[in-house]
Amino acid sequence: MKPQHNFSTSDRIRVCIRKRPRNDKEVKSNDPDIVCITNSCTVTVKEQKMSLDLSRYIHQHVMHFDEVFDDSSSNADVYGRTVKPLVEFILNKGVAVCFSFGQTGAGKTYTMIGDKFTMASATAAATTSSATAAAAAATADNKNVNDENLGLWVSFYEIYCGQLFDLLNDRKKLIVMEKHNKQVCITGLMETYVKDLNALIQAINYGRSNRSRGCSGVNPVSSRSHAVLQFDVRCKDSNRRIGRLTFIDLAGSERASDAMMCSKQTRQEGAEINQSLLALKECIRCLDQEQPYKPYRQSKLTHILRESFTDNCRTVMIANISPTQSACENTMNTLRYADRCV
Ligand code: ADP
Ligand code: MG
Repeated sequence: MKPQHNFSTSDRIRVCIRKRPRNDKEVKSNDPDIVCITNSCTVTVKEQKMSLDLSRYIHQHVMHFDEVFDDSSSNADVYGRTVKPLVEFILNKGVAVCFSFGQTGAGKTYTMIGDKFTMASATAAATTSSATAAAAAATADNKNVNDENLGLWVSFYEIYCGQLFDLLNDRKKLIVMEKHNKQVCITGLMETYVKDLNALIQAINYGRSNRSRGCSGVNPVSSRSHAVLQFDVRCKDSNRRIGRLTFIDLAGSERASDAMMCSKQTRQEGAEINQSLLALKECIRCLDQEQPYKPYRQSKLTHILRESFTDNCRTVMIANISPTQSACENTMNTLRYADRCV
């Protein structure tokens, strides 16, 4: 029997917002929480502004999305309402992709991949992020997979300044090739068999340790690169791929400050990120339209994801936002970006 999922077939993209709680520093410095989640689809930002006569007033922005998560939501809540249907979908021979978008520090990695795993048991870890929960639902101890002699394989790589680095293979540089049938493949990408959750956590921890190499403290490479964690469900005997679920922890969407823009490296990083986020938005917007031209090739990211912009794919975008007044400009940029994807 086919599992039911929440999508109607035309409902190929869902755009969700997640607000993170204020951290200790923000509480201590009295940086006010200006983001209200009015209901499960509505977010209201109460921007504090100053008028010409220096009196303060509040400018309210109200926006609607498919799902909006309050700062009290757990990763398990978010998973249940966003990624869980995708897992059911890929076990039924589909391709699905989940993006986390937003400024650095807004909670993208926390939501998708999880914080550092210090968990004593793998079961507890399953609720720590969407990726671990998805793997738990699709690994060998799951009936769905066992019945059909299927297994789960993971790969983990980073896209930095248009180049790919294999995080599960010592940052080996990877090459993207397009086959005759327009299928895009990444040559030499390491794939690790995930027999259970512990195996996945080991792989993620190893990949994470390969992420931030070569970074300076102020401007870590990890926030200027896209991390791609990909699950393939395959037949164990023939190695034939059944379904694919890709998690993409996008580069920080904030603009580099003018001071940082002095360095050539930062300018190049910034230009690459802008280009890929713009191309991504355009490709997502094309999903529900019968458009002959789709701008896959405008960035490395969208080129690699080409098959994710076709009919047989489901997409979830989770836009992460910070709650405070000081992050207001970035928060509004994130919400406007997400709004343009709907
Ligand atoms: P990003 O990947 O967007 O740069 P992170 O995921 O690293 O941001 O989150 C920044 C910090 O905030 C981390 O210490 C993380 O643990 C914390 N954090 C993020 N989202 C939440 C949340 N929903 N609840 C509790 N802590 C969170
Ligand atoms: Mg991060």
